[in-house]
Amino acid sequence: MLYNGRSMQQQPWVVHKFGGTSLANADRYRDVSRICLLDKSPRKAIVVSAMSGVTNQLIDLIRQATRREEYLVSWEALKRQHSDTLSQLLPNHPSGLLQSIETDFDHVKEMLRGIYLARSCSDQMLELISGYGEIWSAQFLNAHLQRQKIDSTWLDSRQVLVVRSEPLAAVVNWDVSKSKTGDWLKANPAAVVVITGFVASTLEGIPTTLKRNGSDFSASIFGSLFEASVITIWTDVDGVYTADPRLVPEAVVLKELSYNEATELAYFGAKVVHPNTMAPAITREIPIWIRNTFRPEKPGTQIHGKCATDRPVTGFATIDRMALINLEGTGMIGVPGVSERLFGALKEVGVSVVMISQASSEHSICIAIPEPQALLAKETVEKAFFGELHRGQIQTVSLVTGCSILAIVGDNMARKAGIAGRFLGALGQAGVNVRAIAQGSSERNISVVVEGSQATKAVRAAHAAFYLSPQTLSIGVIGCGLIGGAFLDQLKTQIAGLKERSNIDLRIRGIMNSRKMVLTDPELDLGSWRPRLEGATEKADLAKLVGHLVTDYIPHTVVIDCTADDIVPKQYPEWLKQGIHVITPNKKGNGGPLKLYQQIEQSRQESGRHFLCQATVGAGLPLLRTLRDLVKTGDKILQIEGVLSGTLSFLFNSYTGERAFSEIVKEAKTLGFTEPDPREDLSGLDVARKLMILGREMGLPLELSDLSVQSLVPEPLRSGTTENFLNRLAEWDVEMKALWEKANAKNEVLRYVGTIIPGGQSSVALKSYPKSHPLAGLTSSDNLVAFRTSRYHSQPLVVRGPGAGPEVTAGGVFADLLRLVSYLGGPA
Ligand code: ADP
Ligand code: ASP
Ligand code: MG
Repeated sequence: MLYNGRSMQQQPWVVHKFGGTSLANADRYRDVSRICLLDKSPRKAIVVSAMSGVTNQLIDLIRQATRREEYLVSWEALKRQHSDTLSQLLPNHPSGLLQSIETDFDHVKEMLRGIYLARSCSDQMLELISGYGEIWSAQFLNAHLQRQKIDSTWLDSRQVLVVRSEPLAAVVNWDVSKSKTGDWLKANPAAVVVITGFVASTLEGIPTTLKRNGSDFSASIFGSLFEASVITIWTDVDGVYTADPRLVPEAVVLKELSYNEATELAYFGAKVVHPNTMAPAITREIPIWIRNTFRPEKPGTQIHGKCATDRPVTGFATIDRMALINLEGTGMIGVPGVSERLFGALKEVGVSVVMISQASSEHSICIAIPEPQALLAKETVEKAFFGELHRGQIQTVSLVTGCSILAIVGDNMARKAGIAGRFLGALGQAGVNVRAIAQGSSERNISVVVEGSQATKAVRAAHAAFYLSPQTLSIGVIGCGLIGGAFLDQLKTQIAGLKERSNIDLRIRGIMNSRKMVLTDPELDLGSWRPRLEGATEKADLAKLVGHLVTDYIPHTVVIDCTADDIVPKQYPEWLKQGIHVITPNKKGNGGPLKLYQQIEQSRQESGRHFLCQATVGAGLPLLRTLRDLVKTGDKILQIEGVLSGTLSFLFNSYTGERAFSEIVKEAKTLGFTEPDPREDLSGLDVARKLMILGREMGLPLELSDLSVQSLVPEPLRSGTTENFLNRLAEWDVEMKALWEKANAKNEVLRYVGTIIPGGQSSVALKSYPKSHPLAGLTSSDNLVAFRTSRYHSQPLVVRGPGAGPEVTAGGVFADLLRLVSYLGGPA
């Protein structure tokens, strides 16, 4: 058969590698073979790991036997797992395959018996036993492919891959491996070759391995030996992320990265690919793709040599369970060969030094090593420097355990200034204590040692500093009724544009009504917030909501209280103290008891967090803002007068003597222009609160009782249900009509007006105004406030416009949110 006019033997190979995570059971083997068959390349080499967890189980068997623990039960279980998978994958499988696997298991059992008796296991035995998982796995996949009539065979890589086994790595003997592979391929022509990952043999033919997670390395070695055009490593994530997605929910998949970057990230713990993998691919410039077996439709990440991006930092990785050894002494200054002796001694006993940090004064050397090797390393160092310690030239060899290393990696780091500063600054701000710092000589990485318990916080903070917009906000909305709902709907239409145009990243991570809440990570899709909340099963819990919102990987937290109740505002001072910004149209906070207002103010000032409440007065109108500007710029307020309630404005603008007043009240409630209980408006309490908020903004320590308030709720209706009130209000229509007629007779209209006079009596009252007065000209639910000040003396500064209704109030809340973003350094 010819492909593009060439015989199959002339076609390049492609390599696919499937890790243990992709090979958990019979179904996964089926998925894997489906993925292989989707690739129409004529020649495919498929490198497989052992089934998920099998290598660990084999090593555990050895540990049990060495300790003389019962190991047969686990051995039986492992054997059953394999025979079960085989029967599920291949009903009526060829009996030869099962027999061969059973023979392997018998061999393992015999070796375990020997280990049990000897109470020890040689390195060679360990290598042999731990590599069986790959031998079985490759045969499973091959048999499954053959069952589907694929021209497939399998290669036990111990036959062709020759390595020299070093304590920490395996060094490939390329010449011998190449020639053995060539011979094998000639003798075994097939379109698909399933290859055992991880295992190899020494020049003497002794089975060995490429060390833990080594089958990625196998993939690139075979990529090179087969002269493949591409290597695809299939795993359980969408590609190489900017950081381990299990630690950093904000991590994003990288489209591409360089071989060097991938090597560094892997070296510093990014388990997604083994650090040795890149070397064989570099020589032949074979691109490596990392893709997700469970989501093959995703493009994945390409690792190659021509990666050209201008991002300052590519990725972050951490290694846990590290220890730090610090060698300190004035006697080391200027003494040649101290480092050489140190590393020589550690190498001798097989301790791998992951990071070195040396002061240029040579007064101290600090090394990071894997924690399990800490005591051995300390003893070794003390032995190697016995003389110096004895003579007092080295004062201390100290050991700190429970550390982690965090590294940031990027090819462009060398070319960009300020990266280290930004990195260390972010750690400092997150309160992470850095114990040692090192920078790779290629300037492709900076690594720090931190306390293990702070590692996650550290990687999240560092990631946020480079990958998140500084204007990323974690937002919770309490109260999703008329105003809260309108706000979420408005946000929905703007959120993507804000991100795109201005790099403002607004993330709604919690919404709550009086009964239920939805907490999400990542952010909630605003297209479906209503059904999500309706279908929610989690009970409303304010503390839990706030606990969820505050997260160390998002720079700012905001609570938006769209309720009308007085319970939530009691939390404002505490939230501000915790570093949370608060935005609200709820008047029960800054318009609540004076003590609460003062606590909010104090917490706001002490914490430096923002409390934004524009929408508490005049909904979306710039009333508070205008007043604040006047006061701050030194103007003197002489009087504020106006219609401050959209509801009452609507009522009296609509009350032209024809329709009954009670009817107009009912209509206003239906239109959503009143509080849930219209008495809150008619009592004058709502206007009084707003007036008080304005007064407090001017610095007047007002309580509600300081204002004289004329209530429009008839005395007998002040208690009882809202329904009762609405049903009986008509009984007072005559009284209201009389007031209207009296005003009308003077060619005046009724207006419910609040007045504040510094040093004088502030009041809320129903007054009549000549038809020529600006207040008489109000329409609909307009508010109008006139500020008479020493600057605006003869003509007051007037703000007028709709001052009620969910849309404009929500707009006021939204404007506050954007104002907060600009206070936090975002675009104004
Ligand atoms: P396999 O069995 O396929 O070899 P591994 O478990 O060895 O899979 O590697 C995949 C895992 O690596 C992922 O599940 C992920 O949790 C982890 N990981 C760590 N760092 C990263 C990173 N930067 N990008 C992607 N995955 C990462
Ligand atoms: N099975 C081996 C391990 O678990 C090799 C690999 O999966 O990469 O270490
Ligand atoms: Mg792996």
